[in-house]
Amino acid sequence: MATTINPKFSKKLTDYGAFDLNACYNCGNCTAVCSLSTEDDSFPREMVRYSVIGLESEIESSLKPWLCYYCGECSETCPREANPGELMMSLRRWLTAKYEWTGLSGLLYRSLPISIAFFVLVLAGVIALAFYEKFDAEKIMHFGHYFEMFAIAGVFTFILLPNIIRMWWLTVIKPKHKVKFSSYITQFWEFLVHMFTQKRALGCDDNQVRWFEHLILVIGYLSLLFTTVFLDWFGTDNMAIIVLGYVESAVIFIVTFLFMSERMTKSKELSKHSHPSDWFFVIWLFLMGLSAFAVRIFIDTDLLTNNFWLYLAHLTILVQWALIIVPFGKWTHFLYRSFAMYFDALKKAN
Ligand code: SF4
Ligand code: SF4
Repeated sequence: MATTINPKFSKKLTDYGAFDLNACYNCGNCTAVCSLSTEDDSFPREMVRYSVIGLESEIESSLKPWLCYYCGECSETCPREANPGELMMSLRRWLTAKYEWTGLSGLLYRSLPISIAFFVLVLAGVIALAFYEKFDAEKIMHFGHYFEMFAIAGVFTFILLPNIIRMWWLTVIKPKHKVKFSSYITQFWEFLVHMFTQKRALGCDDNQVRWFEHLILVIGYLSLLFTTVFLDWFGTDNMAIIVLGYVESAVIFIVTFLFMSERMTKSKELSKHSHPSDWFFVIWLFLMGLSAFAVRIFIDTDLLTNNFWLYLAHLTILVQWALIIVPFGKWTHFLYRSFAMYFDALKKAN
Protein backbone atom coordinates (compact mmCIF):
# COMPACT_ATOMS: atom_id res chain seq x y z
CA MET A 1 0.00 0.00 0.00
CA ALA A 2 1.43 3.40 -0.98
CA THR A 3 2.13 5.61 2.03
CA THR A 4 0.74 9.14 1.90
CA ILE A 5 2.25 11.81 4.11
CA ASN A 6 0.22 14.90 4.74
CA PRO A 7 2.29 17.45 6.72
CA LYS A 8 -0.89 19.38 7.51
CA PHE A 9 -2.66 16.35 8.96
CA SER A 10 -2.24 17.26 12.66
CA LYS A 11 -3.58 20.74 11.95
CA LYS A 12 -6.51 19.23 10.02
CA LEU A 13 -7.25 16.92 12.93
CA THR A 14 -7.79 19.85 15.28
CA ASP A 15 -10.97 20.58 13.28
CA TYR A 16 -12.20 17.19 14.53
CA GLY A 17 -11.39 17.98 18.18
CA ALA A 18 -7.72 16.99 18.63
CA PHE A 19 -5.38 19.10 20.77
CA ASP A 20 -1.82 20.22 20.16
CA LEU A 21 -0.26 16.96 18.98
CA ASN A 22 3.18 18.50 18.68
CA ALA A 23 3.24 18.73 22.47
CA CYS A 24 3.91 14.97 22.49
CA TYR A 25 7.58 14.22 23.14
CA ASN A 26 7.18 10.49 22.66
CA CYS A 27 7.78 9.48 26.30
CA GLY A 28 5.60 6.37 26.05
CA ASN A 29 3.61 6.88 29.29
CA CYS A 30 0.34 6.53 27.39
CA THR A 31 1.43 3.19 25.92
CA ALA A 32 2.57 1.93 29.31
CA VAL A 33 -0.80 2.65 30.87
CA CYS A 34 -3.11 1.53 28.02
CA SER A 35 -4.43 -1.98 28.64
CA LEU A 36 -4.67 -2.56 24.86
CA SER A 37 -0.91 -2.26 24.39
CA THR A 38 1.12 -5.38 23.76
CA GLU A 39 4.79 -5.92 22.89
CA ASP A 40 3.99 -5.71 19.18
CA ASP A 41 1.15 -3.25 19.36
CA SER A 42 1.71 0.24 20.70
CA PHE A 43 -1.54 1.82 21.87
CA PRO A 44 -2.18 4.78 21.50
CA ARG A 45 1.35 6.10 20.81
CA GLU A 46 1.47 4.63 17.32
CA MET A 47 -1.62 6.64 16.34
CA VAL A 48 -0.15 9.73 18.03
CA ARG A 49 3.09 9.39 16.02
CA TYR A 50 1.24 8.70 12.76
CA SER A 51 -0.89 11.80 13.36
CA VAL A 52 2.11 14.01 14.14
CA ILE A 53 3.99 12.80 11.04
CA GLY A 54 0.83 12.91 8.91
CA LEU A 55 0.73 9.25 7.83
CA GLU A 56 -2.81 9.63 6.58
CA SER A 57 -2.97 6.38 4.61
CA GLU A 58 -1.77 4.33 7.62
CA ILE A 59 -4.43 5.87 9.84
CA GLU A 60 -7.10 5.42 7.19
CA SER A 61 -6.43 1.67 7.03
CA SER A 62 -6.20 1.23 10.81
CA LEU A 63 -8.93 -0.13 13.05
CA LYS A 64 -7.11 0.99 16.20
CA PRO A 65 -9.08 4.21 16.81
CA TRP A 66 -12.24 2.06 16.95
CA LEU A 67 -10.71 -0.50 19.30
CA CYS A 68 -9.96 2.18 21.93
CA TYR A 69 -12.83 2.29 24.43
CA TYR A 70 -11.91 5.78 25.67
CA CYS A 71 -11.20 5.10 29.31
CA GLY A 72 -9.11 8.29 29.35
CA GLU A 73 -6.20 6.78 31.34
CA CYS A 74 -3.64 7.75 28.67
CA SER A 75 -4.75 11.40 28.82
CA GLU A 76 -4.59 11.39 32.63
CA THR A 77 -0.98 10.17 32.59
CA CYS A 78 0.31 12.28 29.68
CA PRO A 79 2.87 14.72 31.16
CA ARG A 80 2.50 17.07 28.17
CA GLU A 81 -1.30 17.28 28.19
CA ALA A 82 -1.31 16.11 24.57
CA ASN A 83 -4.61 14.32 25.30
CA PRO A 84 -3.99 11.05 23.43
CA GLY A 85 -7.46 9.75 24.48
CA GLU A 86 -9.11 12.74 22.82
CA LEU A 87 -6.83 12.25 19.82
CA MET A 88 -8.24 8.72 19.40
CA MET A 89 -11.73 10.21 19.60
CA SER A 90 -10.82 12.82 16.96
CA LEU A 91 -9.45 10.08 14.72
CA ARG A 92 -12.76 8.25 15.03
CA ARG A 93 -14.52 11.43 13.83
CA TRP A 94 -12.02 11.86 11.00
CA LEU A 95 -12.44 8.22 9.95
CA THR A 96 -16.23 8.60 10.04
CA ALA A 97 -15.82 11.46 7.56
CA LYS A 98 -13.46 9.29 5.45
CA TYR A 99 -15.91 6.38 5.22
CA GLU A 100 -18.92 8.61 4.55
CA TRP A 101 -19.35 8.94 0.79
CA THR A 102 -21.42 12.13 0.51
CA GLY A 103 -18.89 14.31 2.38
CA LEU A 104 -21.64 15.70 4.63
CA SER A 105 -20.28 14.00 7.72
CA GLY A 106 -16.94 15.81 7.51
CA LEU A 107 -18.70 19.09 6.79
CA LEU A 108 -20.91 18.75 9.86
CA TYR A 109 -18.02 17.68 12.11
CA ARG A 110 -15.91 20.63 11.02
CA SER A 111 -18.52 23.37 11.10
CA LEU A 112 -20.93 24.12 13.92
CA PRO A 113 -22.79 26.84 11.95
CA ILE A 114 -23.42 24.38 9.08
CA SER A 115 -24.64 21.76 11.57
CA ILE A 116 -27.03 24.28 13.11
CA ALA A 117 -28.21 25.29 9.61
CA PHE A 118 -29.12 21.65 8.88
CA PHE A 119 -31.10 21.38 12.14
CA VAL A 120 -32.94 24.61 11.30
CA LEU A 121 -33.65 23.35 7.77
CA VAL A 122 -35.33 20.23 9.15
CA LEU A 123 -37.35 22.35 11.60
CA ALA A 124 -38.52 24.48 8.66
CA GLY A 125 -39.42 21.31 6.73
CA VAL A 126 -41.59 19.98 9.58
CA ILE A 127 -43.36 23.35 9.97
CA ALA A 128 -43.96 23.44 6.19
CA LEU A 129 -45.41 19.91 6.35
CA ALA A 130 -47.72 20.93 9.21
CA PHE A 131 -48.99 23.91 7.16
CA TYR A 132 -49.36 21.76 4.05
CA GLU A 133 -51.45 19.24 6.01
CA LYS A 134 -53.41 22.10 7.68
CA PHE A 135 -52.29 20.87 11.10
CA ASP A 136 -54.41 17.73 10.66
CA ALA A 137 -53.20 15.65 13.63
CA GLU A 138 -54.19 12.30 12.15
CA LYS A 139 -52.43 12.90 8.81
CA ILE A 140 -49.26 14.27 10.42
CA MET A 141 -49.05 11.39 12.92
CA HIS A 142 -49.58 8.98 10.06
CA PHE A 143 -46.70 10.66 8.23
CA GLY A 144 -44.54 10.45 11.39
CA HIS A 145 -45.15 6.73 11.72
CA TYR A 146 -44.28 5.95 8.09
CA PHE A 147 -41.36 8.38 8.12
CA GLU A 148 -39.62 6.21 10.74
CA MET A 149 -39.89 3.11 8.53
CA PHE A 150 -38.72 4.85 5.36
CA ALA A 151 -35.96 6.73 7.19
CA ILE A 152 -34.56 3.50 8.66
CA ALA A 153 -34.63 1.73 5.28
CA GLY A 154 -33.37 4.74 3.29
CA VAL A 155 -30.56 5.77 5.63
CA PHE A 156 -29.34 2.20 5.95
CA THR A 157 -29.47 1.46 2.20
CA PHE A 158 -28.13 4.71 0.78
CA ILE A 159 -25.77 5.96 3.49
CA LEU A 160 -24.76 3.42 6.13
CA LEU A 161 -24.35 0.34 3.94
CA PRO A 162 -22.12 2.05 1.33
CA ASN A 163 -20.09 3.56 4.19
CA ILE A 164 -19.56 0.18 5.85
CA ILE A 165 -18.43 -1.20 2.49
CA ARG A 166 -15.99 1.71 2.19
CA MET A 167 -14.71 0.99 5.72
CA TRP A 168 -14.21 -2.69 4.79
CA TRP A 169 -12.42 -1.65 1.59
CA LEU A 170 -10.08 0.76 3.37
CA THR A 171 -9.26 -1.45 6.37
CA VAL A 172 -9.33 -5.00 4.98
CA ILE A 173 -9.10 -5.10 1.18
CA LYS A 174 -6.89 -2.12 0.30
CA PRO A 175 -4.15 -3.07 2.84
CA LYS A 176 -4.31 -6.58 1.24
CA HIS A 177 -5.29 -8.60 4.29
CA LYS A 178 -6.03 -12.11 3.08
CA VAL A 179 -9.33 -13.29 4.54
CA LYS A 180 -10.97 -16.63 3.78
CA PHE A 181 -14.60 -16.44 2.76
CA SER A 182 -15.55 -18.89 5.54
CA SER A 183 -14.11 -16.46 8.13
CA TYR A 184 -16.69 -13.86 7.16
CA ILE A 185 -19.34 -16.31 8.35
CA THR A 186 -17.59 -17.83 11.36
CA GLN A 187 -16.51 -14.46 12.77
CA PHE A 188 -19.84 -12.69 12.26
CA TRP A 189 -20.83 -13.42 15.83
CA GLU A 190 -18.13 -10.89 16.86
CA PHE A 191 -20.19 -8.19 15.19
CA LEU A 192 -23.44 -9.31 16.82
CA VAL A 193 -21.91 -9.69 20.29
CA HIS A 194 -20.31 -6.26 20.24
CA MET A 195 -23.30 -4.55 18.70
CA PHE A 196 -25.77 -5.87 21.25
CA THR A 197 -23.64 -6.15 24.40
CA GLN A 198 -21.16 -3.28 23.97
CA LYS A 199 -18.75 -5.52 25.85
CA ARG A 200 -15.72 -3.64 24.55
CA ALA A 201 -16.44 -0.96 27.16
CA LEU A 202 -15.68 -3.60 29.83
CA GLY A 203 -12.01 -3.54 28.82
CA CYS A 204 -11.15 -0.98 31.48
CA ASP A 205 -11.22 -1.99 35.15
CA ASP A 206 -13.30 0.94 36.38
CA ASN A 207 -15.62 0.85 33.37
CA GLN A 208 -18.28 -1.52 34.72
CA VAL A 209 -20.84 1.21 35.48
CA ARG A 210 -20.20 2.92 32.15
CA TRP A 211 -20.59 -0.40 30.33
CA PHE A 212 -23.91 -1.05 32.10
CA GLU A 213 -25.18 2.46 31.22
CA HIS A 214 -24.24 1.94 27.57
CA LEU A 215 -25.82 -1.50 27.53
CA ILE A 216 -29.19 -0.39 28.88
CA LEU A 217 -29.12 2.67 26.61
CA VAL A 218 -28.60 0.46 23.54
CA ILE A 219 -31.33 -1.95 24.67
CA GLY A 220 -33.69 0.96 25.50
CA TYR A 221 -33.01 2.71 22.18
CA LEU A 222 -33.35 -0.37 19.96
CA SER A 223 -36.46 -1.61 21.73
CA LEU A 224 -38.15 1.85 21.64
CA LEU A 225 -37.41 1.95 17.93
CA PHE A 226 -39.08 -1.45 17.55
CA THR A 227 -42.03 -0.44 19.76
CA THR A 228 -42.76 2.82 17.90
CA VAL A 229 -42.09 1.58 14.36
CA PHE A 230 -43.43 -1.99 14.42
CA LEU A 231 -45.83 -1.97 17.39
CA ASP A 232 -47.18 1.55 16.59
CA TRP A 233 -46.77 2.81 20.16
CA PHE A 234 -48.55 6.14 19.58
CA GLY A 235 -51.50 4.44 17.84
CA THR A 236 -52.03 1.30 19.94
CA ASP A 237 -54.60 0.60 22.68
CA ASN A 238 -52.71 -2.44 23.91
CA MET A 239 -51.78 -1.76 27.55
CA ALA A 240 -48.70 -4.00 27.52
CA ILE A 241 -47.24 -2.13 24.51
CA ILE A 242 -48.10 1.27 26.05
CA VAL A 243 -46.32 0.40 29.33
CA LEU A 244 -43.38 -1.07 27.42
CA GLY A 245 -42.92 2.18 25.47
CA TYR A 246 -43.10 4.24 28.70
CA VAL A 247 -40.37 2.12 30.30
CA GLU A 248 -38.12 2.27 27.21
CA SER A 249 -38.44 6.04 26.74
CA ALA A 250 -37.90 6.61 30.49
CA VAL A 251 -34.70 4.50 30.34
CA ILE A 252 -33.42 6.61 27.44
CA PHE A 253 -34.00 9.97 29.01
CA ILE A 254 -32.70 8.91 32.46
CA VAL A 255 -29.44 7.44 31.08
CA THR A 256 -28.87 10.33 28.67
CA PHE A 257 -29.58 12.80 31.49
CA LEU A 258 -26.75 11.13 33.46
CA PHE A 259 -24.45 11.37 30.41
CA MET A 260 -25.27 15.07 30.00
CA SER A 261 -24.60 15.70 33.72
CA GLU A 262 -21.19 14.03 33.37
CA ARG A 263 -20.36 16.23 30.39
CA MET A 264 -21.54 19.38 32.15
CA THR A 265 -19.66 18.67 35.39
CA LYS A 266 -16.66 17.18 33.47
CA SER A 267 -16.53 14.59 36.23
CA LYS A 268 -14.58 12.01 34.21
CA GLU A 269 -11.61 12.29 31.87
CA LEU A 270 -13.68 11.08 28.94
CA SER A 271 -16.34 13.75 29.52
CA LYS A 272 -13.91 16.66 29.94
CA HIS A 273 -13.75 17.53 26.26
CA SER A 274 -17.01 17.65 24.35
CA HIS A 275 -17.11 18.23 20.61
CA PRO A 276 -20.42 19.72 19.36
CA SER A 277 -21.24 16.30 17.82
CA ASP A 278 -21.05 14.73 21.32
CA TRP A 279 -23.56 17.26 22.61
CA PHE A 280 -25.88 16.81 19.63
CA PHE A 281 -25.88 13.05 20.14
CA VAL A 282 -26.63 13.03 23.84
CA ILE A 283 -29.08 15.99 23.85
CA TRP A 284 -31.11 14.66 20.91
CA LEU A 285 -31.31 11.19 22.41
CA PHE A 286 -32.47 12.73 25.68
CA LEU A 287 -35.07 14.87 23.87
CA MET A 288 -36.30 11.86 21.88
CA GLY A 289 -36.91 9.83 25.03
CA LEU A 290 -38.48 12.75 26.86
CA SER A 291 -40.72 13.96 24.03
CA ALA A 292 -41.86 10.42 23.14
CA PHE A 293 -42.79 9.86 26.80
CA ALA A 294 -44.66 13.19 26.94
CA VAL A 295 -46.56 12.58 23.66
CA ARG A 296 -47.83 9.21 24.90
CA ILE A 297 -48.92 10.78 28.23
CA PHE A 298 -50.80 13.48 26.30
CA ILE A 299 -52.49 10.77 24.17
CA ASP A 300 -53.50 8.83 27.30
CA THR A 301 -54.91 11.94 28.97
CA ASP A 302 -56.68 13.20 25.80
CA LEU A 303 -54.60 16.37 25.82
CA LEU A 304 -52.76 15.90 22.53
CA THR A 305 -55.46 17.25 20.20
CA ASN A 306 -55.37 20.65 21.92
CA ASN A 307 -51.58 20.55 22.32
CA PHE A 308 -50.51 19.28 18.95
CA TRP A 309 -47.34 21.43 19.11
CA LEU A 310 -45.92 18.71 21.38
CA TYR A 311 -46.16 16.07 18.65
CA LEU A 312 -44.65 18.52 16.12
CA ALA A 313 -41.74 19.13 18.52
CA HIS A 314 -41.27 15.36 18.88
CA LEU A 315 -41.47 14.90 15.09
CA THR A 316 -38.86 17.63 14.53
CA ILE A 317 -36.47 15.99 17.01
CA LEU A 318 -37.09 12.59 15.43
CA VAL A 319 -36.48 13.81 11.85
CA GLN A 320 -33.32 15.71 12.88
CA TRP A 321 -32.09 12.58 14.64
CA ALA A 322 -32.89 10.29 11.71
CA LEU A 323 -31.60 12.53 8.89
CA ILE A 324 -28.61 14.23 10.56
CA ILE A 325 -27.28 12.45 13.64
CA VAL A 326 -27.85 8.83 12.58
CA PRO A 327 -26.33 8.98 9.06
CA PHE A 328 -23.71 11.70 9.57
CA GLY A 329 -23.12 12.16 13.29
CA LYS A 330 -21.94 10.27 16.33
CA TRP A 331 -24.57 7.52 16.04
CA THR A 332 -22.43 5.90 13.34
CA HIS A 333 -19.65 5.26 15.90
CA PHE A 334 -21.90 2.61 17.45
CA LEU A 335 -22.01 0.83 14.08
CA TYR A 336 -18.35 1.31 13.07
CA ARG A 337 -17.08 0.11 16.46
CA SER A 338 -19.01 -3.15 16.06
CA PHE A 339 -17.77 -3.61 12.48
CA ALA A 340 -14.21 -2.78 13.58
CA MET A 341 -14.35 -5.64 16.08
CA TYR A 342 -15.60 -7.90 13.28
CA PHE A 343 -12.93 -6.81 10.77
CA ASP A 344 -10.24 -7.10 13.44
CA ALA A 345 -11.42 -10.65 14.18
CA LEU A 346 -11.26 -11.42 10.43
CA LYS A 347 -7.66 -10.25 10.25
CA LYS A 348 -6.66 -12.21 13.33
CA ALA A 349 -8.44 -15.36 12.15
CA ASN A 350 -6.32 -15.37 8.98
S1 SF4 B 1 2.14 10.21 27.22
FE1 SF4 B 1 1.79 12.13 26.08
S2 SF4 B 1 3.85 12.90 25.60
FE2 SF4 B 1 4.08 10.76 26.20
S3 SF4 B 1 4.02 9.60 24.24
FE3 SF4 B 1 1.93 9.65 25.05
S4 SF4 B 1 0.99 11.43 24.08
FE4 SF4 B 1 3.22 11.68 23.86
S1 SF4 C 1 -8.38 6.01 26.04
FE1 SF4 C 1 -7.91 4.13 27.20
S2 SF4 C 1 -8.17 2.47 25.66
FE2 SF4 C 1 -8.03 4.40 24.52
S3 SF4 C 1 -5.87 4.58 23.97
FE3 SF4 C 1 -6.17 5.71 25.92
S4 SF4 C 1 -5.70 4.24 27.56
FE4 SF4 C 1 -5.98 3.07 25.64
